[in-house]
Amino acid sequence: MSSRSVGRNKNKEVCIIYRGIPASSGVAIGKAFLLNRETVEVKEEKISENEVQREILRFKKALDETKKELSKIKEKVAKRIDPDHAKIFEAQILILQDDFINDTVIERIKLNENNAEFVYKKVIDSTIQALSASTDEYLKERILDINAVASRLIYNLLGIKHLTLESIDSPVILIARNLSPADVVHMKKESILGFATDAGGGTSHVALLAKSMEIPAVVGLKNFFDQVQSDQSLILDGTRGELIICPDEETLKEFEKRRKYIIKRTAELSELKLLPAETFDKRRIELSANIELPQDTDSALEYGAEGIGLFRTEYLYLAQSDLPSEKEQYQAYQEVADKVYPKSAILRTFDLGGDKFDGHTGSLYETNPFLGWRAIRACLDLPEIFKIQLRAMLKASIKKNIKIMFPMISQVEELKKAKALLEEVKDELRDKKIPFDENIEVGIMVEIPSAALSADSLAKESNFFSIGTNDLIQYTLAVDRGNERIAHLYQGFHPGVLKLIKQTIDAGHRNGIWVGLCGEMAGDPLATVLLVGMGVDELSTSAMAIPEIKKIIRSITFEEAQRLAEQVLNLSTIDEIKKVLIEDYAEKFGKG
Ligand code: PEP
Ligand code: MG
Repeated sequence: MSSRSVGRNKNKEVCIIYRGIPASSGVAIGKAFLLNRETVEVKEEKISENEVQREILRFKKALDETKKELSKIKEKVAKRIDPDHAKIFEAQILILQDDFINDTVIERIKLNENNAEFVYKKVIDSTIQALSASTDEYLKERILDINAVASRLIYNLLGIKHLTLESIDSPVILIARNLSPADVVHMKKESILGFATDAGGGTSHVALLAKSMEIPAVVGLKNFFDQVQSDQSLILDGTRGELIICPDEETLKEFEKRRKYIIKRTAELSELKLLPAETFDKRRIELSANIELPQDTDSALEYGAEGIGLFRTEYLYLAQSDLPSEKEQYQAYQEVADKVYPKSAILRTFDLGGDKFDGHTGSLYETNPFLGWRAIRACLDLPEIFKIQLRAMLKASIKKNIKIMFPMISQVEELKKAKALLEEVKDELRDKKIPFDENIEVGIMVEIPSAALSADSLAKESNFFSIGTNDLIQYTLAVDRGNERIAHLYQGFHPGVLKLIKQTIDAGHRNGIWVGLCGEMAGDPLATVLLVGMGVDELSTSAMAIPEIKKIIRSITFEEAQRLAEQVLNLSTIDEIKKVLIEDYAEKFGKG
């Protein structure tokens, strides 16, 4: 994060501009609301001798309460996800029942005459210190569990309830150290004017969700949280990735001008709504929208989407913190299919895992979640859950405008297994005489380098490809898409990434299938001419980005786009590539 002071406002407060990573465009003005969840201050308090028993009782009551909470989560996970993952919470319950820790706490409350939370924290801190010094990896890993249990118990001792974002009901700009995708799903647009986080990258799921909910957001601010106070006046500019504390008159004027410009530009672009995304020489690109929840379909169509190129169905789970039933899923898919008809919608099967496993069931700890039990891997391990989803999708396909897409395919075998399960479900439906689209198209996300490199073989088993650049970039460059510290290394214009994209498009076409792209690159105006020139057939992006991308496509020829792509693919550095793209853009559309 960089910052600069730009004078004082009329109340003599210093006006400072902080710069982070743009996550969702738009501007918001309002008061800061600090979401202080993680840090609870535990103060030392002396108690009298006759308060000792009451303090011990308070500690035992908090132990019971915490155990009940964890047992509930354990049951929920066992029922809805799988019994193996429920073991994490079993282990946490065992920590709560650790006689050594609990007896030591009780002894020290008696001996030192201190409040329970202070004594408990001290005992936990020294346990963690001892484990950290151990060379045993297993013991070290227990630290995370101990921390999770300890903070839950301390919250209960202090009587603090976990704040949910639904409960905020006056309009504020939310400032947090970190948020989960489930947090964003629970935001009410009327009360959260915008949000800013210290953590996160521009293609983290928190950022994607903010875009789709049209909530302006800035992420990756590193330590902004500690610089701002509750109720301070703020301007948040999600397009530039800036936050302005205590804006002065001049800054407010500049912002007003910007806001008017954005309104004018949006009105100009909305005139393109009914026109096709087609180059001068008639190369037609299908321009679709990415959605997270069925209700996003309305705004996608409003912005001129020609279909839904990616429905991230896992948000049905994140929105309600429980796996949706077959009926609930069917209704959601049916709603999208009906709304877009006669256009089509691509339903992606659950891509849970990575940063999308937080929420209310507790996070399932993995050392490397993005390389872990995610998406198709989890679905193939949980065929009963997967088949429920496939059945709901098939049932919603009767109007023949649904396509099914599998995420995170890394090898042909996975695709074959997923397709075999789909066939099983089709057979079951046929037996029961339940109708569905017999010719439903089945495609895959190409978002892992091994898939791009095996694109010829995968194309033989697929009806279409959709390139997921958000993940393809992170896996090709070994750069976590949500980590603000290395956000500068997350570069879609890396020659290696572009070669994999080109290779995938060519392999798809060689095998007679269409190739789309649904990562954030599809909504980046700097990438549009290049992607069209590489031969992409479809671009699917957040609804808000559609008009701008359409305008670019309608201002070029396919031939000039191909020339640019050929030039760029022969360059060897990110800087050279960006320079050529920026110059080309400025020549065609002017600077800025
Ligand atoms: C991608 O990886 O590019 C993608 C579109 O999927 P998600 O962002 O949901 O991982
Ligand atoms: Mg992905």
